[in-house]
Amino acid sequence: MQAGVRAERPQGGARQWGSVRAMVLDTPGRRLREAELEQPRPGPRQVLVRVHACGVCRTDLHVVDGELPDPKLPLVPGHQVAGEVATLGNGAERFEPGDRVGVPWLGWTCGECRYCRTGRENLCDRARFTGYLLDGGYADLVVADERFCLPLPAGYADGEVAPLLCAGLIGYRALRMTGEAERLGLYGFGTSAHIVCQVAHHEGRRVFALTREGDADTQAFARGLGAEWAGDAPAGPPEELDAAIIFAPAGELVPLALRALAKGGSAVCAGIHMSDIPAFPYEILWGERSLRSVANLTRHDGEEFMSVAPRVPVRTETTDYPLAKANEALDALRNGRLRGAAVLVPER
Ligand SMILES: [Zn+2]
Ligand SMILES: [Zn+2]
Repeated sequence: MQAGVRAERPQGGARQWGSVRAMVLDTPGRRLREAELEQPRPGPRQVLVRVHACGVCRTDLHVVDGELPDPKLPLVPGHQVAGEVATLGNGAERFEPGDRVGVPWLGWTCGECRYCRTGRENLCDRARFTGYLLDGGYADLVVADERFCLPLPAGYADGEVAPLLCAGLIGYRALRMTGEAERLGLYGFGTSAHIVCQVAHHEGRRVFALTREGDADTQAFARGLGAEWAGDAPAGPPEELDAAIIFAPAGELVPLALRALAKGGSAVCAGIHMSDIPAFPYEILWGERSLRSVANLTRHDGEEFMSVAPRVPVRTETTDYPLAKANEALDALRNGRLRGAAVLVPER
């Protein structure tokens, strides 16, 4: 039996010892259900982590809305967990009980395939992802493979650091894919962009934030985080870009971004899901422009970004929701009503 699979406890009555309170997805497209589950036991090389905060990611929305195929069901979503090690499974040796750890999206890889053997474990065909193929952090306890947990930087509260674990990490990986680009466009200024903007500004890049039409609040937010210019995505930036990162899951942004690129520029799609990309003329790709996606993350990305973030220092703007309000947090993200990141906090 796969570790992390949880049996249901009968509902109702006082909270029982040895149980976990969680928000559960039974069927994609339905609201999450608050449930009391049997406490998971950490298997070999696993740790049981007490969740202090779990960031809400757009990928959670794609899982819950059924836009990603074949999730584990029923599922506890959530893959930006900040917490502390509660107990150790057999052979777990990397952490001690009480250590602060982060549990990210990449939950397990095979270590043997062509991708794993060449430093590209993010592409492992057998990879298991937290909060998608493994139960995640919309709960007060979660089990995780210690080899894929990240030590968390000091100086960040749990709620502040949680959004770094995916929004920050994936954004950082996407930023690395843009090479030395000086003029950087960020299409869609949500959780990930608000973190990447700070890193890019710190690196001396010129950041252009491209938002939904007329979204003056988000544009002001972007300027406050170091963007030199912020405006409407359809109208485009005031000058050519050397690179663009597309965070919003809207395929029509791809030709828009390509049109904004200088020759040799690159457009990077950072999301796991995107609506169809409309046909576009070859001339907007011509001139050695490139288009690529970024998929998942490696442990190396995680360790690198956890050391970069405090040096910037990256500050996250967050809105806390009690764990039981996970559906409301997802709604706010779906409707574009969030500024920065939503974070779920279990009640104790
Ligand atoms: Zn592999
Ligand atoms: Zn994510």
